[in-house]
Amino acid sequence: MTQVVWLRSDLRVQDNPALFHALQTGEDVIACTGIAQQTWQRHRRGDNQATLINNRCHHLAAELAALRVPLRRLAAPTFEAQIDEVLGLCGQFQAKALHFNVQYEWDEAQRDQALAQRAPLRVHSYHDQCAIRPGTLKTGQGSFYSVFTPFKRRWLALQSEQMIQPLGTPPASKAMACTPSEWALNAQAEQQWPSDTASVHQRLNAWISLAHRYDQTRDLPSVDGTSQLSPYLAIGALSAQQILHALAMEHPGLYQDSGGIGTFVSEICWRDFYRNLIVEVPRVSRDQPFKLETRGMRWNTSEQDFDRWATGQTGIPIVDAAMRQLLATGWMHNRCRMIVAMFLTKNLFIHWRRGEDFFMRHLVDADLASNNGGWQWSASTGTDAAPYFRVMNPVTQSERFDPEGTYIRRWVPELNALGAKRIHAPFAQGPVHGLDYPAPMVDLKVSRQQAIDNFKAHLQEQK
Ligand SMILES: Cc1cc2nc3c(=O)[nH]c(=O)nc-3n(C[C@H](O)[C@H](O)[C@H](O)COP(=O)(O)OP(=O)(O)OC[C@H]3O[C@@H](n4cnc5c(N)ncnc54)[C@H](O)[C@@H]3O)c2cc1C
Repeated sequence: MTQVVWLRSDLRVQDNPALFHALQTGEDVIACTGIAQQTWQRHRRGDNQATLINNRCHHLAAELAALRVPLRRLAAPTFEAQIDEVLGLCGQFQAKALHFNVQYEWDEAQRDQALAQRAPLRVHSYHDQCAIRPGTLKTGQGSFYSVFTPFKRRWLALQSEQMIQPLGTPPASKAMACTPSEWALNAQAEQQWPSDTASVHQRLNAWISLAHRYDQTRDLPSVDGTSQLSPYLAIGALSAQQILHALAMEHPGLYQDSGGIGTFVSEICWRDFYRNLIVEVPRVSRDQPFKLETRGMRWNTSEQDFDRWATGQTGIPIVDAAMRQLLATGWMHNRCRMIVAMFLTKNLFIHWRRGEDFFMRHLVDADLASNNGGWQWSASTGTDAAPYFRVMNPVTQSERFDPEGTYIRRWVPELNALGAKRIHAPFAQGPVHGLDYPAPMVDLKVSRQQAIDNFKAHLQEQK
């Protein structure tokens, strides 16, 4: 008798309910996984994350082999074809049951529903992605939370009551033969984001010893003041429960903490909040704004403007530094994500979906729920979003969070010679001779006001 486990956004051995319960049956277990290339591209996913997944699978195959679980590589190019392939595998091994952990995005959920309808065997699904299962927390009126603060209050209360106990390493399978890994390691990517379980947990543990300072370091893009665990969370090499559990071992009062630890816990809660939202309001994962009244806005469609943003040539140093960090590394600091997103959607008045797509294609931690949440927050179209009239000034942000210009100098070396006062807005006092750097593509004050006027006029039209 065989059990089949389909691994998707849960590329880990520990704290993996689907794998754990399949192995607990005591029967032979086969695991399978694979990117459906055409669907991947249709979802605007890119190479940085695909490479991380590839490397992770390389290690995962070996880690599963230690449990005598072979990891089969799925080759089907679309979600639809993947259903056939997975069911084919189940048929080939006369599997008794198929196990997987739920994915909350719309297309993924539809795929799983279609599979469950067609499957001639038992299908077991589990929840593994969030500290608290999406759809669980409701307001006093029984509706979902559209505002973060009360959601967090309930989330913290529940977390304090229950001690998170992640599932450990499951028992080994009986005697399945495991062939060598079908995934070749990309050594360069592995250097940047080591993806074997030991390295991932090393990074987690190193972070836990620094997390108490998070409230002081998290907004400074020039220092490694955040955990940089997002790529691992995005592909499920690490679970939120594992992070919270490890944190609780060192800091038992984590849910009452008002310093660095508590601030960090809040970010994990934001992740749950946005996942909750794509379950409760599925249209947000289908290219629609949360605030329906913002539909049909007449956005700026200039490709030239978009390209200057996308290539880090806007003439606003902090924006260009951030975009170049993204292009060079596949990752961007959170403060900078907010700055570039506001600049695109407000100062350039370009549709948030263009930015959302670009991030999905480039981010190694690309994650539909958090990315969509972040973009709609910045564009003032989302739930609990920044109000449309509160537009961040990128130069002020730069002066505040990168006061010496250290981050800017790292990514925009042509500004190296400028002192800390001038580096944030090199042309503020007029032209600078010999500087190989573009003048700002927009006047920040004028474009800010224009965006506010556009929003106001559009919202009035909707009334
Ligand atoms: C426009 C925009 C786009 C974004 N796109 C993504 C994305 O595609 N994938 C992604 O994982 N995060 C995204 N974020 C959220 C956040 O920027 C990243 O999670 C964070 O920068 C990752 O770095 P870290 O692991 O060092 O985070 P830390 O500061 O160490 O936070 C710990 C973890 O909490 C979660 N988290 C932190 N901030 C947020 C947040 N604002 N919303 C949701 N979860 C959060 C992440 O899982 C993160 O790994 C986006 C934010 C914005 C403003």
